Formats: sequence, structure tokens, C-alpha cells
Amino acid sequence: MRQQTAVIIGAGPAGLTAACELLHRSDVRPIVLEKSDLVGGISRTVNYKGNRIDIGGHRFFSKSDRVMNWWLERMPLEASAADAQMIGYQGKSRLVDRSGPGSDLDRGDRVMLLRPRRSRIYFQRTFFDYPIRLSLDTVRKLGPWRMARIGASYARSSLMPIRNEATLEDFFINRFGRELYRTFFESYTEKVWGRPCSEISAEWGAQRIKGLSIGRAIKHALLKPLSRRDVAQKGTETSLIEQFLYPKHGPGQMWELAAEEVESLGGHVIRNHEARHLLTAGDHVLGVEAVDMRSGRTETIAADYVFSTMPIKQLVRAFSDQPPDDLRRISEGLVYRDFITVGLLLKELAVKEQGGLIRDNWIYIQEPDVRVGRMQVYNNWSPYLVVDPSTAWIGLEYFCNEHDDLWVLSDRRMIELAVAEMAKIGIVDPAAVLDATVIRMPKTYPAYFGTYDRFDDLRGWLDRFENLFLLGRNGMHRYNNMDHSMLTAMTAVDNVLAGRTDKSNVWAVNTEQEYHEAQEPETATPASAPCENLQSEEAVDADAVLDRVEATGAQ
Ligand SMILES: Cc1cc2nc3c(=O)[nH]c(=O)nc-3n(C[C@H](O)[C@H](O)[C@H](O)COP(=O)(O)OP(=O)(O)OC[C@H]3O[C@@H](n4cnc5c(N)ncnc54)[C@H](O)[C@@H]3O)c2cc1C
Repeated sequence: MRQQTAVIIGAGPAGLTAACELLHRSDVRPIVLEKSDLVGGISRTVNYKGNRIDIGGHRFFSKSDRVMNWWLERMPLEASAADAQMIGYQGKSRLVDRSGPGSDLDRGDRVMLLRPRRSRIYFQRTFFDYPIRLSLDTVRKLGPWRMARIGASYARSSLMPIRNEATLEDFFINRFGRELYRTFFESYTEKVWGRPCSEISAEWGAQRIKGLSIGRAIKHALLKPLSRRDVAQKGTETSLIEQFLYPKHGPGQMWELAAEEVESLGGHVIRNHEARHLLTAGDHVLGVEAVDMRSGRTETIAADYVFSTMPIKQLVRAFSDQPPDDLRRISEGLVYRDFITVGLLLKELAVKEQGGLIRDNWIYIQEPDVRVGRMQVYNNWSPYLVVDPSTAWIGLEYFCNEHDDLWVLSDRRMIELAVAEMAKIGIVDPAAVLDATVIRMPKTYPAYFGTYDRFDDLRGWLDRFENLFLLGRNGMHRYNNMDHSMLTAMTAVDNVLAGRTDKSNVWAVNTEQEYHEAQEPETATPASAPCENLQSEEAVDADAVLDRVEATGAQ
């Protein structure tokens, strides 16, 4: 019998998971087309002279056992970790069991590290703990005058909330008061979203930053110590909750291993090949035409199945039979937000902690007088990302739009800007810079702006193609994390094995029940907008607000 072929567009987490799953569970041969020369997509690790950059900082966490097992089967937990470990992410937590002896850190590279998580806010040239604590330290740093204003403006918002809550700014002010909003949310949120909160609909907050209020924050702050003790009594090491899994050499290591696995099992990962055309007949995709980015040569690969993780806007353009004009307008109106990382290698940072490197994984830069949004400290993600441990290897992250004034800056000018901004806010001394590099990553955040409110119409047309599966983040125009992206791939392979052509179970990934329950009928959004992992229980916790600000909006 003829062996069936699946053409998979994109060697990111979704595409490579689909390929591995097909190889392990079916006779279908996967051919993965990757337009760049690296695998891993947004979750790649960029190696710059031995120092590694993780674009955005990727914590490995999933509520799904299927995903957690997939990761740990390929990269066992470090041997020094205790048998059962609590890890957390965006306010969620779970136990990870280390089955077997684990991996020895110094001898092997296939090791999943257990890393402590710490992030702080930098505001008014001062570090604030995150989550913000109602501690004496916070009061001292903010000063009595600002604290009084925070209290007064919160009281005012409680007594006289903005009645017509039209914008996200109104949403924040009603829940936090104007002063606290200005202090901790305004600047960063605007950097991430690329537009003022006063120009973003309040629905965004209602749908994706739900459950937030000062009252709940205070209750949470008061109850948290009690609940910790409570859980600890049950023998769970909750002081370790703020930790996450992380491959020894960064997230791309996982995807490099997955690509090797695909090749070793008889599949193909063809780099530098861009899928340009989808050849269709009726409701069937017959094949994919790809261009070799180096030679310019075109080749057509016949396909029994096509799995696409490429951005939907480009996928629709690639169809040999174009959709009706109104659907094409929806796809052309989809919006993305893009991302620049400036990697800086430094003798040392100008700010120190106990005389050495600060311990944060990343810092939210809330200062309104600079455009940098976040600073990653790669040493603290994994010491193995850095060649010389005596140096500080940091990533300065800028949220932008492809082709805007930042995007088009030359590398030299971008580095100058980053160094000047970090010097201005007192974190970097320009004389300490040893080396620098710039990475531009387009389409990091699929937006829920633009024509997204009519996305379901387009999805209906795309779902008609029975052997075409849309997967992952840009592939589904959805704010999917790695685990969601992988689950969409796993579910699509389940469907292939079951002969199921209905895709609703793939679209159901990352649409949690709480989200639907929390929606008011009149604010019901678009399409099956995902809930960004929000759980009402921890809506005021840890990563909550700022992570959610990104999860919500950067899109
Ligand atoms: C700043 C930031 C932080 C993040 N942090 C986390 C985190 O902590 N934890 C987490 O789980 N997730 C995180 N994510 C999400 C994670 O990066 C994505 O979920 C994941 O990379 C999506 O996988 P994917 O395969 O769908 O797409 P991608 O990673 O985008 O991969 C798609 C691949 O397709 C290729 N491609 C595109 N078009 C074509 C074409 N026409 N032909 C051939 N190839 C093509 C691209 O080059 C790319 O390699 C973060 C994302 C960002 C932006």
C-alpha cells in the first residue's frame, strides 16, 4: 500500500510535535517545511558566539499531563531535584514527579532544569517585588505622599466608579484607582499593546484580566501565608512553588531534539524552504509548493494531509483557489505585534544584589521615559546559556510593529538605543558592554484587534478543507503557549488516526470553561477567544497582572 504523506508547514513546537506524533503513532510520513535555517519557531534558542538567547523567556509548564510527559520523556528532570516538585506558571501550579534516576547535570545535556522564578518591576529607578506586596518596603519605596494618593484615588474609584466603563483605562481605574493604575500598569501595558489604554476597549480587561480588584488583592495577601502553612502541613513543599522547568540550553534545545527525532524515525525536516502555495481541488488540499530560500527553486510536494502553523494571513494568500472577497478581507485585516530582542553581554550590571548579579529571571520596565519593555537575565534562566559565568548576559525586549521606526533601525542604532536607555535608567554602564546582538522576530503576538471579531467566518471556510489542519499560535491566530500549540498538534493527529475531519476538538484547546462562564452575553467576543489561562482563583496572584497584560494585549 502507498505510504501516506503529511506536509507540515513550520518547524516550531506545533509542527515538530505533529511530526513526532505521526511517526510514533501512524504510518504517515511527515515532511516538515521550515522557512528559516533554525527549528523551534518563536521557541527557538539563538546561539550568539556561544551565549544563548531565549526569545521572550519560555517557561515549560502545562496543566496537561500529556504535554508534561512528552517533555520529560525527552529531557528528564535534573537528578538533584527531589522526587516530587511543585512548579508554577501564570498563577497555576502542579506537582512534577521525577520518575527514574533523572539526568546528571554536569555529564549530560538532555536535562530539564528546575529553576527558581523571580521577576520584579522597575519603576522610578527602584525595584518593586512582583507580585506587589503591601509591605513596609513597598510603602517606603513609594513614599507616603504617593501612598496617600493611591489610597485616596482607590477610595474615590470605589465610591464613584466611572459609570460608562468604555476603555481599558476605565477598567483599571475602577478596580485599582487612578494612581495605582498609573504607577504599575499604564506604561508597561501601553508598551506591550502599542496603544494607550484609553484606546483599548474595556472588554479586553473584562474578558482576560477578570477578577482583579484591590479588595481581592488584600484578601489574597492576608490569606496567602495561612494557606501556605496549611498546605505545608500536608507535606507539600510550597515554598518552591515559584519555580519552573527549563531545558539546560534553552527552549530551542527541546525542538532541536524533536527535529533530530523526526529525522531518525524516517521523517524529514527541510530547512530554508518556505511554503508558498497550497494546491486544492474542491474541499481537498492536494499538495504544497515550496521555495528553496537559497536557490530560489520551487518544488511541489503531494500531500495526503497538510498541517499548517504558518500565519493565517499568509496561508490564505497561498491558496490556489482564493476565498470570497469578504473572507479575504478578514484574513488581510488580521493584525500581529512584533518583537525585538537586544542581547547585551556585560562585564557586570550597574545594579547589584549582595554584591553580585541580581537574581531575577526578568524585570518589567515600567519607566515611561524609555521604550524598552522588559529585561531578561539569561544567566538566571539557565547558567548554561552563558559562556563566561562572570559576565552578565541580558536581553532587552521591545514590543513593536513590523516596519515601524524601531523595526527599521539598523542593528548598530538599535544597540545604541538599548544601551542608552539602560544607562538612562541606571541599570547598565555603557563602559561595561562587551558585545551585543539584535534579533527581530515578526508575528510574535497574533492580535485580537483588526478583523478578529469576524474570525469565525474565515475559520469556517478553512475548516472545510477536510485534510487541512491549522495548528499552534499564528497557525490558529490564537494566543497559544507551547503546551497549547503542542496539544493542537496532538489532537489533530488523533483526528487523522480516527478518520475524523471535524476540527472542533482542535479549536477547543485553550478555551477554558471559566472564560465562557464569565462572559456577559453582550460582551461575548469574537470567535472562540481563548482565556489566556486565566483562572478566577488566582486572578490576583503572581504572574497574574503583568503576564496577563501581555497575554491579553500584546496580541
Ligand atoms: C515573548 C513570548 C514569550 C513566551 N513565553 C512562553 C512561555 O513562557 N511558555 C510557553 O509555553 N510559551 C511561551 N510563548 C509561546 C510560544 O513561543 C509559542 O506558543 C510557540 O512557539 C508556538 O509554536 P508554533 O509551532 O505554533 O509556532 P512558531 O513557534 O511561530 O513556529 C512556526 C514556524 O513556522 C515557520 N514558518 C512560518 N511560515 C512558514 C512558511 N510559509 N513555510 C515554512 N515555514 C514557515 C516559522 O519560521 C516558524 O519556525 C511565548 C511567546 C512569546 C512571543
